[in-house]
Amino acid sequence: MISRICCKCKNNLSIHKFGIDKSKPLGHKYKCKECESKDFKNRYKDTEFRERHLSYNKRWEQNNREKQSKRVIEWQQTPKGKLSRAKNSSKRRYKLKNTIHSFSYEDWLSKVKLTNGICPRCNKTYDEGAGLTLDHIIPLSRAPINHIYTIDGVQPLCKRCNSKKYTSIEDMF
Ligand SMILES: [Zn+2]
Ligand SMILES: [Zn+2]
Repeated sequence: MISRICCKCKNNLSIHKFGIDKSKPLGHKYKCKECESKDFKNRYKDTEFRERHLSYNKRWEQNNREKQSKRVIEWQQTPKGKLSRAKNSSKRRYKLKNTIHSFSYEDWLSKVKLTNGICPRCNKTYDEGAGLTLDHIIPLSRAPINHIYTIDGVQPLCKRCNSKKYTSIEDMF
């Protein structure tokens, strides 16, 4: 077992008790993790240090969020990513093809009209219902094959509520 003496508490400790620091000759810090966290806590009481630390963390998060979304976009370009996307959308298309909507467009329009442009979920008003989209009360993903959607099986929801709903079943109308 490799061990070393902590420069602070002078204890002889296993190398695993020291944090990684590639800039140091042995790849580990000179101060043990315990001393390090004690020091950090003490320094954290200092307002200036705390603020600097928090803003550093914030920057780090922002940079990594960009990196993360970049990574997702890159993944979507790979054969695996493309396949996964296609699968998801074809699943939905397949479901749509195998569900029956037993109402006319006029039925739907008159239902939209009844809302007076108010989304029944968030109660926000949308211009003449133009912002309201068709929501399947039983989500397509949960409906059995050849399920028949009547006019009572759908509801107008605003785009935001529609996408928020995901696959939960809610009948608001
Ligand atoms: Zn120590
Ligand atoms: Zn809404």
